[in-house]
Amino acid sequence: MKVMHRYAMSWNALVWSGAITDGRLKMSHDFDCPYCEAPFEVCHDDGHGYEEGVLHHDHCRSCGKHFTFTTSISFYFEPEKADCLNDGQHIWKTRRTYPVEFTRMKCQTCGEERHPTTEEMAAVVAARR
Ligand SMILES: [Zn+2]
Ligand SMILES: [Zn+2]
Repeated sequence: MKVMHRYAMSWNALVWSGAITDGRLKMSHDFDCPYCEAPFEVCHDDGHGYEEGVLHHDHCRSCGKHFTFTTSISFYFEPEKADCLNDGQHIWKTRRTYPVEFTRMKCQTCGEERHPTTEEMAAVVAARR
């Protein structure tokens, strides 16, 4: 989940400003001051600045001017190919557990879990020695 602060700034403006590349938001700070463009970070103590659709008042630490901002929260979906769900091979990795008898194999791609085979278990036990 990403939180984006917006003040009269459109998606296009963010793309043009370079804040969005590959459809993802890349910002090291919350936004720039609308007056002097100094980077501004919202103080999120007590959840301040996270409420959606609320007009927040704040002021710039650089130029001292007051401004408003609203917050909109966007969800980003990141699809990944999952060959193992399309008749491909699972990519099994050992999940490190304690004690070693509870070791499970987990597919890196789809997250499926299974018990290790006797050979895999022997290898895991050997590796722990
Ligand atoms: Zn400023
Ligand atoms: Zn899988």
